Amino acid sequence: MYCFKANPISRNEIREYVYEIKKELGLENELFFPIVKFVENVLPELIPGFTFEIKPVEEMGTLHGRTYPSKNIIQIREDIYIRAVRGEGRDRLTIAHEVGHLLMHDETELALCRLSPGSSLKPYEDPEWQANAFGGELLASSYLIDGMTAEEVKEKCGVSLVAAKNQLKSIK
Ligand SMILES: [Zn+2]
Repeated sequence: MYCFKANPISRNEIREYVYEIKKELGLENELFFPIVKFVENVLPELIPGFTFEIKPVEEMGTLHGRTYPSKNIIQIREDIYIRAVRGEGRDRLTIAHEVGHLLMHDETELALCRLSPGSSLKPYEDPEWQANAFGGELLASSYLIDGMTAEEVKEKCGVSLVAAKNQLKSIK
């Protein structure tokens, strides 16, 4: 089985990185992260040439989002974007996940690897794990939600209940 391996990044390193980003924006104490505004208004200022593309369902098929880090492009399927604008947690997380790929990954640095049957990548080497950890932390920052219930995290941070539970679990 073939896979892509990224440079290892620990959950703590991802948390620190997210904190730096939020602090830079003056949002480090805010529970709700405005992810749509961030990709539409902030990323173009931070990354010259950044393009955010909303793509029709016919073009994206089953993909909710796609990122080309070396070209500075994030593509989001139209229906996902519309729901994210409305505040749907699952779709907000999809965009945050793609931002994780954009900021942490570079196609040229991802190594194609071959796994022997039954073995798997270490989570911290898996670009998908890294992007999930980044997205979860950006929308529901561990240092802000510690001690909250999953319901509170869902309401205050604008994430799904599943994401709220996962993020709380990762703190313990
Ligand atoms: Zn991904």
